[in-house]
Amino acid sequence: MSYLDFNATAPMPDCVTDAVLAAMRQTGNPSSVHGYGRQARAIVETARSEVARLVGVTPEQVVFTSGATEANILALRGCGRARVLVSAVEHESVLTATDDPEIIPVDAAGRIDLGALERLLSEETAPAVVSVMLANNETGVIQPVADVAALAHAAGALVHCDAVQAPGRIAVDFTALDVDMMSLSAHKLGGPKGVGALITRRNLPLRALQRGGGQERGLRGGTENLPGIAGFGAAAGWALECTDRVGAVAALRDDMERRLRAAVPDVRIFGSEVVRLGNTSCIGLPGLAAETQVMALDLAGVAVSAGAACSSGKVKPSHVLEAMGADADLAGSAIRISLGPTTTAAEIDRFLDAWIDLARRARRDAA
Ligand code: PMP
Repeated sequence: MSYLDFNATAPMPDCVTDAVLAAMRQTGNPSSVHGYGRQARAIVETARSEVARLVGVTPEQVVFTSGATEANILALRGCGRARVLVSAVEHESVLTATDDPEIIPVDAAGRIDLGALERLLSEETAPAVVSVMLANNETGVIQPVADVAALAHAAGALVHCDAVQAPGRIAVDFTALDVDMMSLSAHKLGGPKGVGALITRRNLPLRALQRGGGQERGLRGGTENLPGIAGFGAAAGWALECTDRVGAVAALRDDMERRLRAAVPDVRIFGSEVVRLGNTSCIGLPGLAAETQVMALDLAGVAVSAGAACSSGKVKPSHVLEAMGADADLAGSAIRISLGPTTTAAEIDRFLDAWIDLARRARRDAA
């Protein structure tokens, strides 16, 4: 089998399952003062340090949440800015976090239009927050987040960055990006699903969406998800260890794209003209529906996604590819192949054999 859907969720390495199991066996509420509670608290704080190390911040800057969806909502609603500017290629959890966000367009390669952002910021109708992702989940295209932050800060706006797809794929340095808030999700790095974090600049005023018992410095009430948080910490450590595989993963992806182009010259590779994550390839072939490809590949033992995994199952063209100017036929043919540190050349071969065969048959049928 070839699991080539790491951007939907990454397989869990043993070090993570071990950490999750150990936390499940730990009795005690992290808020309790007795020994059991203190041991549970130690698990949370060890994980917090690991997650902090992943993005180069101090542990006090990490707020654990139920995932990146919640972190995105906490950031955009909790910061209390009346104007919310988001890029057109953001994940749905950012696009729908607030009621009427203003959309910053992207170019045909999927990179944010900085001139358009500058014009929007110059309107200065109300205090603003700008949300731009670090790397796109569908195309892997990397945004110039530090440039966005410079423009936004000059205009007095706050900056939030959905960095979910970046750790373990590229180095992420919160301070160098100069953002005020950053969202992370454990399961994209081999951690458990249903846990994530919002990283904040020190002393950033933020209003909790759920107060409860005042956990997470009052920013996210509710007894901590101990196994999830423990697994997130272990996954953060694993992602840092996997950094030395990044080059090999990119080489596999690049070789795959070379062979795709050689076999099917009219294949379209989205975002390939700009800087992308080395693990992601989003390809389209007009006339060959994405759902058909995903199903045929599944039968051949290859797991990939049609557009964004979160929205697959619902047949709707990708808003990311539409924002990049792809027409409905091309966008409707797009599939995403996403690799990880454990991906092998044999898995790529299996995908190539199945996909090239499918594309050639589709071309013959159309002729
Ligand atoms: N942002 C991006 C870019 C994502 O890819 C995802 C997951 N598809 C999310 C946010 C949501 O993360 P979670 O599953 O942790 O809620």
